[in-house]
Amino acid sequence: MDNIKSKLVEKFKKTYNQEPERFFFAPGRVNFIGEHIDYNGGKVLPFAINKGIFAAIKYDDSNKIKLCSHIDNQVYEIDYNNDFNQYKNTSLWIRYPLGVIQALKNQGYRFKGISLYYWSNLPVGSGLSSSAAIEILTAYVFYLQIKTASQIDRIQMAILCQQVENQFIGVKCGIMDQFSIAMGKKDHLILLDTHSLEYEYLRFLFPDVSIVVINTNKPRTLAGSKYNDRRTECKLSLEILQKKYKINTLVEATEDMLNDLVSNTLQKRTMHVISEHKRVQKIRELLTQNNSSIENLTLIGKLLYESHYSLKEYYEVSCYELDVIVEESQKIDSVYGARMTGAGFGGCAIALVKQQEVNNYISQISKKYKEKTDLEADIFEVQIEDGVKEI
Ligand code: ADP
Ligand code: MG
Repeated sequence: MDNIKSKLVEKFKKTYNQEPERFFFAPGRVNFIGEHIDYNGGKVLPFAINKGIFAAIKYDDSNKIKLCSHIDNQVYEIDYNNDFNQYKNTSLWIRYPLGVIQALKNQGYRFKGISLYYWSNLPVGSGLSSSAAIEILTAYVFYLQIKTASQIDRIQMAILCQQVENQFIGVKCGIMDQFSIAMGKKDHLILLDTHSLEYEYLRFLFPDVSIVVINTNKPRTLAGSKYNDRRTECKLSLEILQKKYKINTLVEATEDMLNDLVSNTLQKRTMHVISEHKRVQKIRELLTQNNSSIENLTLIGKLLYESHYSLKEYYEVSCYELDVIVEESQKIDSVYGARMTGAGFGGCAIALVKQQEVNNYISQISKKYKEKTDLEADIFEVQIEDGVKEI
């Protein structure tokens, strides 16, 4: 962290010709399990990671915001009195922070002049939610002008940023990303009902295991349209089942109802939803036993593999690259489990790996992945971290 702080100081000085006053960090996030069931009444199980976006800031007496990011190293100087909606339809990265500040302005808040420098070690556009990280980071920095850290309602902050992403950025995401980045807790997964926003922290503490993230670096061109298709298929399945059974959401369906769906596609989608929901419940049970044994870890790993194969075969949202990572991981003895994470069709996978073997694992998978896909994967170990904070 000290290394990063001195880097931020150096960059800030170079950009603004002065020393920064305060430093902040917003993590990226990974979903451990519970994929594609949040919109079917199920729960997700995300966590915040130790990679994310950093900000160095300094207040001044102007009526301006100055924004700079390592992404393009350009300084954008914007007057608070301007209507930020003009940035809505641009492709500039500043639309994320400006969307957040506009939403706070709409609530009647007024702010001091400020210079911000953003720097990140989180891959962009890879499904680790750099967009939610920059939103939450900005919201936190600006809320701290009007409240103390303990007064900030982190859930309300997550909701505000989700609305910005939906309305200002135009991405119809759910609340999981912003929630995990605002509410992350060191060494804990967050079991979250994305509709009621009820949540529970589950301690994940296996001393000899590492969580490894493997970024396929595959462009996620299909993700948006296929995501919408799956949502439609689930909605249709629920409507068909509700004609005969008293269920409110698709996770309440049971296997004996599958025959009523007639279409093989709808049966497969529903199979995934039912089984993924069960896996989340099993993992919750295993983690609440507070038992860090190898047996428990092995069971958790097995559930990760099952989740992957269900997403591949039944939900059909995996892709060749993600399958290569999971299948090759399964051949390695030091791996307990692996799965794709996020919406699919690219993005990242995660693996649970024996800590002493992580370096071996990384070199083996990198090599295999390159051989089989002709792409370079980015592979790194992550820690489960707290949500947004001042550093
Ligand atoms: P992700 O899966 O990472 O959330 P998105 O496409 O939703 O991918 O968001 C990526 C966008 O967020 C980038 O194109 C950029 O506009 C913005 N962004 C992410 N990280 C940074 C950063 N460090 N500095 C400036 N903008 C960033
Ligand atoms: Mg995003």
